[in-house]
Amino acid sequence: MKRTVILIVLDGLNHEVARHALGHLQAYCAAGRGALYKLDCELPALSRPLYECILTGVAPLDSGIVNNGVSRPSNQRSVFHYARAAGLSTAAAAYHWVSELYNRSPFVAARDRHTEAPDLPIQHGHFYYADHYPDSHLFADAESLRLRYRPDFLLVHPMNIDDAGHRHGLDSPHYRNAARQADILLADYLQGWLEAGYQVMVTADHGMNTDRSHNGLLNEEREVPLFVLGDAFSLDGYAQPKQTELCGTLCELLGVPHDKPFCRELLA
Ligand SMILES: [Zn+2]
Repeated sequence: MKRTVILIVLDGLNHEVARHALGHLQAYCAAGRGALYKLDCELPALSRPLYECILTGVAPLDSGIVNNGVSRPSNQRSVFHYARAAGLSTAAAAYHWVSELYNRSPFVAARDRHTEAPDLPIQHGHFYYADHYPDSHLFADAESLRLRYRPDFLLVHPMNIDDAGHRHGLDSPHYRNAARQADILLADYLQGWLEAGYQVMVTADHGMNTDRSHNGLLNEEREVPLFVLGDAFSLDGYAQPKQTELCGTLCELLGVPHDKPFCRELLA
C-alpha cells in the first residue's frame, strides 16, 4: 500500500528530554493517536554518520561515513533512491550535509541551497549551512516544499536543539527550551500534515551530553526518541525499533521495493 511520509529529524535531541519537553507530540500519544518509542543510535553518535544510518539503514562502520569530516557522496542506497526508483517524488528541508550525501558534493551554496533537480535523488530541496539557522525558518521551508510539490517523501531536519546543546550542554535551559520550541513549531504543521494523509515519524540522529558534545555510549548521547503518528503505525508501544531499521520501515510505509531491514512490529 502506497502512503506519503514525512520524516522529521530533530538534530541532537535525546530521548529523556524528548519525553518530557515535547508536550504537543505527547498530547497525541496521550490521546491514543501517536506513540513514543526509544531507540539507541548507532556508533559513533555523530551527525553525518547517523544521517547516513537513518536514511540508508547502514551503520557507520559499514557505510564508511565514520565522522563528520567524511564529506563525499554516500555509496549506499537511501530512502530517496528507493522512492525515486519507484517513481515517487522526494523533497528535503535539511542541513547541507544531506545534500552532500545524496545529491552533490561538495555543497555549493549558490547552486545547492535551493535545489530544483528532478533527476537527483532529492528532487526538491532547501539546504542550510549555519547551525543556528532558525528552526522556524526551516519548518517554513519544509512546508513550502510540501505545498508546492506534494512530495511522497519529505525530510524535515532542524538543527537548533543540537546547536543549543553544543553551546550550553544537555543540562541547560537553552537545550531544553530549544526542544520545547521545536515542539511548538511542529504544532503549527502537524495537524495539516496528518489531515493531508501523511504518516509522520519524529526522531533524532543522536543525543547530547553535559560536556556539550556527543560521540559515545552515555545514555544521554545514545538514546533517542521515535514518535510515530498516523494510521499505518502500531501504537501499542511494544516495538523495539533499531536505527538501522528506519530506512526500511520508511520504504515499507511508502510501499516501495527495498533491501534493508525494517521493524515489522512498528507497523499496524
Ligand atoms: Zn551535534
